Amino acid sequence: MENRQAVKLLQELAVPGRRATRFPQCDVPVCDLETLIPEEHRAVKLPAIPEVTEGDIVRHYVSLSQRNMSVDTHFYPLGSCTMKYNPKRHERWANMSGLIDVHPWTDQADMQGLLGILYELQEMLAEIAGLPAVSLHPAAGAQGEFAALLTAAAYFEAKGEKRTKVIFPASAHGTNPASASMAGFDCIQLKASSTGFVDLDSLRKHLCDNVAVFMITNPNTIGLFEKDINTITKMVHDVGGLVYIDGANMNAILGKARPGDFGGDMMHYNIHKTFTGPHGAGGPGAGPIAVRDFLAEYLPGPVITKNRNEDGSSIYQLETPKHSTGRLRAFLGNVGILLRGYFYIRTLGAKGLKEVSEHAVLNANYLLSQLKDVLDVPNGDRCMHEFVASARACKEKGITAMDIAKRLLDYGFHAPTVYFPLVIPEAMMMEPTETESKETLDQYAAAIKKILQEDPEFLHEAPYSTPVSRPDEVKAARNPILAWCPCEVADQSADSPEVATVSG
Ligand SMILES: *Cc1c(COP(=O)(O)O)cnc(C)c1O
Repeated sequence: MENRQAVKLLQELAVPGRRATRFPQCDVPVCDLETLIPEEHRAVKLPAIPEVTEGDIVRHYVSLSQRNMSVDTHFYPLGSCTMKYNPKRHERWANMSGLIDVHPWTDQADMQGLLGILYELQEMLAEIAGLPAVSLHPAAGAQGEFAALLTAAAYFEAKGEKRTKVIFPASAHGTNPASASMAGFDCIQLKASSTGFVDLDSLRKHLCDNVAVFMITNPNTIGLFEKDINTITKMVHDVGGLVYIDGANMNAILGKARPGDFGGDMMHYNIHKTFTGPHGAGGPGAGPIAVRDFLAEYLPGPVITKNRNEDGSSIYQLETPKHSTGRLRAFLGNVGILLRGYFYIRTLGAKGLKEVSEHAVLNANYLLSQLKDVLDVPNGDRCMHEFVASARACKEKGITAMDIAKRLLDYGFHAPTVYFPLVIPEAMMMEPTETESKETLDQYAAAIKKILQEDPEFLHEAPYSTPVSRPDEVKAARNPILAWCPCEVADQSADSPEVATVSG
């Protein structure tokens, strides 16, 4: 199988003397390196840069990119981490010279256009959230959670209240407890409920005046809109706590429901998920947070403000909130992703964003209806933008969620998220986004039905058509090889490297 042939490393393609570019004849006076760089700062050895032609480099990277699945090449129904199509014209706009060539140290007066765009993005995100104050700073959802929890901690400290606990449901994304403990809180996980909704009795038991924040994803990770969300947020507020909304599932409710309206005090967006920043394998991202006005002075900064010049014209300025928890990123954050989000929102407008959510929810419900006869769907026949199926009945026949996911790759589909959330055995979490056609969803459902008819022994070895089949994921996580150098490879040749896979 051609695909299984090992790709040579760039270093292995190198031939001394090969070049991608050559410099022209020097037309300025030549001087010695010694006169320019003090000895202690000079390298003793030249770096081992592979000597290859431009053609070698292009073929190398293009063929590497073809060994992957992507939103641009395949249906990608990954649950939780929305993977949606990235419109190409937004790429073109984000790459306009006036945006992409702005130097980080450019004077604020000379980047009013960019600051104006980011200011408008703050305003639009505030409107969509129903929460008035926004910081664009965090680089991803997880950092947004962390930033918001630091904001909450600063708020309680200023009020002289000592609150140490953060509560979250059992279906929460792993970043929720990770962020809470990084921010110095004690984590309390609610008992898993069989309905898929937050168990109110369990929540009530843990609520006391020591609770700082309740973190909740809504719609939740099972793809259900928390039907008691107003009661839940009131219960938390009654003990003086704050409600954090994990906004990773905003794709289901854009223009339909606002976290600020159903009781959220703080939330993060995942611009790279909901608003189409191309992402994968851990980045790049942007995770702006939106909060209530009484929390604004603690936000990470700088934030962008709009003021008036003496002549009445407007001027955008960077301002650090009065009691800011500080900087999270250099300069303005992940501007490239923020710009794509801005263009996406502006292209669609309020009506278009609403339609995005309507179509996302419709597609998920259609797919659910096509699969519910062959896979269990433990939490009912209706969902928001995603649903969790379970392969537990198939497991009795020897077919696991992992087998189905792996075999789907052979059929030309990216796998859904598997084994998350942990509260559902053999979980398969599927999120078809709004731009997928009925034909694509039908083909995907047909592939799953066909796979379930295949020989379990055969499925255990799948996939058969991909560059790697079943890497040892534990070893890849524990013992990743992240850099290449000839001496290191020689040392490790007895112990062949596993390929690390990252998702979510
Ligand atoms: C993706 C995700 C996160 C984390 O967001 P990142 O941008 O990947 O850091 C948090 N919660 C949920 C529910 C998610 O799906």
